[in-house]
Amino acid sequence: MTTTVDRPTGTAQKATAPAAVDVAALGELLLGRWAEVRRQTRAMLLDERLHTQENLSYQENRERVLGQLHLLVEHGAMSRGLPEAYGGQGDPGGNVAGFEELLLGDPSLQIKAGVQWGLFGSAVLNLGTEEHHRRWLPAIRDLRVPGVFAMTEIGHGSDVSSIGTTATYDPAAEEFEIHTPFTAATKDYLGNAARHGRAAVVFARLLTRGVDHGVHAFYVAIRDDDGAFLPGVSGEDDGRKGGLNGVDNGRLRFDRVRVPRTHLLNKYGDVAPDGTYSSPIASPGRRFFTMIGTLVQGRVSLDGAAVVANKAALTIAIRYGSERRQFNASSDVREEVLLDYQEHQRRLLPLLAETYAMDFAHQELLAKYDDVFSGRRDTDEDRQDLETLAAALKALSTWSALDTLQTCREACGGAGFMTKNRLTSLRHDLDVYTTFEGDNTVLLQLVAKRLLADWADELKHVDVGVMARYVAGRATEATYHRSGLRKLGQAFRDTGDVRRSVNALREESAQHALLADRVQTMVAEVAENLRPTARLPREEAAALFNENQHKLIAAARAHAELLQWEAFTRALRRVEDPGTRTVLTWLRDVFGLRLIEKNLAWYLSYGRVSMRRGRSLDEYVDRLLARLRPHALDLVAAFGLEQGHLRAEIATGVEAQRQEEAAAHYRRLRASGDAPVKETAPPREPAEGRRRAAKDAGKDTADDDARTSGTGAPAPEESAAEPAGGPGTGGRRGERRHDRRRARRLELRGLKKTRRRAAAEDAAAQQVPARAGDDRPEEREPAPAGDAAGSAPEEARTAGA
Ligand SMILES: Cc1cc2nc3c(=O)[nH]c(=O)nc-3n(C[C@H](O)[C@H](O)[C@H](O)COP(=O)(O)OP(=O)(O)OC[C@H]3O[C@@H](n4cnc5c(N)ncnc54)[C@H](O)[C@@H]3O)c2cc1C
Repeated sequence: MTTTVDRPTGTAQKATAPAAVDVAALGELLLGRWAEVRRQTRAMLLDERLHTQENLSYQENRERVLGQLHLLVEHGAMSRGLPEAYGGQGDPGGNVAGFEELLLGDPSLQIKAGVQWGLFGSAVLNLGTEEHHRRWLPAIRDLRVPGVFAMTEIGHGSDVSSIGTTATYDPAAEEFEIHTPFTAATKDYLGNAARHGRAAVVFARLLTRGVDHGVHAFYVAIRDDDGAFLPGVSGEDDGRKGGLNGVDNGRLRFDRVRVPRTHLLNKYGDVAPDGTYSSPIASPGRRFFTMIGTLVQGRVSLDGAAVVANKAALTIAIRYGSERRQFNASSDVREEVLLDYQEHQRRLLPLLAETYAMDFAHQELLAKYDDVFSGRRDTDEDRQDLETLAAALKALSTWSALDTLQTCREACGGAGFMTKNRLTSLRHDLDVYTTFEGDNTVLLQLVAKRLLADWADELKHVDVGVMARYVAGRATEATYHRSGLRKLGQAFRDTGDVRRSVNALREESAQHALLADRVQTMVAEVAENLRPTARLPREEAAALFNENQHKLIAAARAHAELLQWEAFTRALRRVEDPGTRTVLTWLRDVFGLRLIEKNLAWYLSYGRVSMRRGRSLDEYVDRLLARLRPHALDLVAAFGLEQGHLRAEIATGVEAQRQEEAAAHYRRLRASGDAPVKETAPPREPAEGRRRAAKDAGKDTADDDARTSGTGAPAPEESAAEPAGGPGTGGRRGERRHDRRRARRLELRGLKKTRRRAAAEDAAAQQVPARAGDDRPEEREPAPAGDAAGSAPEEARTAGA
């Protein structure tokens, strides 16, 4: 077992951690089944020619990214998924794994590669047949033909089945005529369309013999070798975007452009020379979803890309947070490390837990994708499961990436906002991952519909009596009883002991029961609400559906979160090292309990947890986070990202060096005895003395209070206002002399106390052994000899406070 040292947590937090993380083994677990491909890709990405260059114009950026794609071709990096006959390795899972890592080089490089090989190439491979593969795949593989995936139109993005572009068959010429009939049917946002694309897979409605057979894909050449549009094709550049400015997105229009009949990618629908349509799938609806389903690769790979983005962002923020110090809370000479603050842990560590959950869930998704696309397990049901899982996980992970990047950016303060620290650029680039390859909200709606269908399926097999109970609206409670939650909820309600109720939630089975029950209850509720739709006219049915849309989407999200939790829990069983398993179990618990905490209102209002339990949840999560804190650096070290992948100055240890320099400076100053003495606030004057002095000076005490308020410092005019003689002045003068002496005594006492504390802390610093990670650098070297009782100016250390 490889063990790593526990990270010190600073004086603010004395948490000790008996468990240790086996970083190397955990790293392997996270790399998953395609570890070797990920390693190879990461090694390739150390080449700085594949790195984002921030200071380019978007036109220059696009050319650079095109060059990067040629480098990928040289490395053979993007052909793993192709059949061996076309120079590939028939390894769809490995291909996607490699693609996901490309984000570490440059997200624009990743997305342009995704357009070329993941969309354009995949469409030819999965929608075309042997002849198409032979004719086009080699040139696509080698980037001799940069291509466009032309599905979206200005008028329709999420609802692809309603696109307006037509492909009308002309039996006389044995050609299709591709046409854009109105402006909203213009293809838009297409990668490679503005400049580099030479051909496109165009999605259009297939019309033959006067029948609309729905959306099909056609291979269409769009530019000549000099990059000029071919006759009938036109388009515009989308220009600068909110991110991904290395990709040349643009529009395409077709004015009765003719392509041979054989350019129809005809795996799922064909047209004979005489115009007869045929398809192995009779139902137009099913045919459409089958065709679209073959393009699931994009969603799978964006899910994995979001995991990689989270890993990079959290590695940067947690390293910085383990070195950066702000404010003296527990010491006069040493400030606190950011990650020792509870709130900093609250901000970053749940996202770390979420990233682990995302990683393990993605590994299962990728394995499923590989099973289907390698043909090992490729039934209709497998494909449907894959699509639902991909939709659910892609939505959650790409949203998580944005949340994580922004939180990490803020957690790094001003440094996080500097472009050289990567977080802002990554955030800009990752923004649109929530929209393309399926808008996240729309994807969750797909997931919800599948959940409803499954629910209805389940009910089909239930006898009439049970059905009647559901109809009576007791489905929710039935779930509640069935899952044993009633007992659990009762236990929480009955016990007055917070610790006992916390212990109950630490149980894996309790977390699972609560998370699963929420999904089942939500789905059952919506299903019950929607039951009348079958009998309603279309308009009313749509209205009823719409009334339940928010609940539906919430149910889908809860379902996706449950899937992530389950994947995390399954992964725990593969961890052999006990220390690592302990730490990962805490992390999984944080993930699960945060989900319950976020939805506490639901759990309380449905009586799933008691009020007492709800209140203690918060505290328990904080305790878990404090336990995890010493392992935070190990948990990001297991991501295995090198400096060449992170390329963020604040993740290099530079902050620790700066801290060391500053600490050494103050230590030397204290030792020299020449340290300036900190100005000490004088004690408040006794109230009676002040009142009398003010009266003598002919001033109102209220006025005097106003001048001294806030600082406690005496008013400067006081001495000037002192009367020079007169009856009674000697006594008052003596009183003031006494006050001044007292103030001086107190000042000296404070000073001595400060010096004693500083000396003690310097001495303690010499005794603490040096450790890795967020070690205080000054702890490694002995304090300089000499008088250690000097006092460093506190203001300098808390500047900016
Ligand atoms: C940078 C970039 C690159 C792209 N690259 C390509 C490409 O190479 N090829 C390609 O074909 N396409 C590409 N796209 C298009 C992309 O796939 C679409 O933008 C996406 O599918 C969303 O479609 P839309 O823009 O029409 O949004 P809309 O579908 O109009 O959605 C707008 C909003 O409405 C909401 N909404 C939609 N329907 C519903 C509903 N039923 N209920 C509730 N809310 C709803 C959505 O959640 C969303 O928030 C790209 C887009 C971008 C921005």
